[in-house]
Amino acid sequence: MNENRKKIVVLSGAGISAESGIQTFRDSDGLWENYRVEDVCTPEALARDPELVIGFYNQRLAQVLKAKPNPGHTALVELEQKYDVRIVTQNIDDLHERAGSSNVLHLHGDIRKKRSQVDPDDIEDIIPLEKGIQMGDLDRYGKQFRPHIVFFGEAVPNIEPAAKLVEEADIVLIIGTSLNVYPAAGLMYYARPDAKIYYIDPKAESAKGLDKRVVCIAGKAGTAVPEMVRQLMEEA
Ligand code: NAD
Repeated sequence: MNENRKKIVVLSGAGISAESGIQTFRDSDGLWENYRVEDVCTPEALARDPELVIGFYNQRLAQVLKAKPNPGHTALVELEQKYDVRIVTQNIDDLHERAGSSNVLHLHGDIRKKRSQVDPDDIEDIIPLEKGIQMGDLDRYGKQFRPHIVFFGEAVPNIEPAAKLVEEADIVLIIGTSLNVYPAAGLMYYARPDAKIYYIDPKAESAKGLDKRVVCIAGKAGTAVPEMVRQLMEEA
């Protein structure tokens, strides 16, 4: 490993997976696959109707299993030839991993896993993935396993390691996020004053309250990310 490599941190959101056929959230009027977030993505919803919430995430899992990484995901892998690349994703899908990225930190959980409702450190793979989490699949305390997803209103345990990665970055690439969900949206403010920050999103230019340093690139991940990667490979 060349210790002099520049560090790139990628902050990715739902938009990078849009061209893989996985719907974003805010592009569909604040509904997620026709569900209201309050009904499927909060601790209250899980307590009220675990079958609905678990069923919703089983559907998301089935969709993710059918999806394939797109050129936005795969271009980021190429960067590892010349840079130390860390991916911090809001996404719960595994398309960065399947594309071949080596270092992926999930801020909002991982759809391939289930978690105890009693012990948050008891996280297990869903096996077989195709079946999803079954009702009656109990943890060692006898309680129903839940999806390993950070619901709205819950703490984001990986935010501190993510902020540390951003602090150390020479270059920050923000890709496909509406920058509406906090604390993830605040991560860019941890960047060093001399770090370069790029924001790739079809709506990048209309984003409000961005740090002045941010260079906005209005485009889709599938084309704008490979373009950005070509440029960074030349500069390395
Ligand atoms: P968001 O839905 O709030 O915003 C999506 C962003 O993607 C928008 O800014 C939109 O302009 C952009 N976009 C749309 N098509 C694009 C493309 N082809 N290329 C690049 N950008 C494109 O997403 P968010 O900011 O990530 O927040 C949504 C929350 O919902 C997250 O917390 C995430 O965990 C969850 N979510 C995850 C997935 C997933 O895992 N793939 C999908 C939907 C929602």
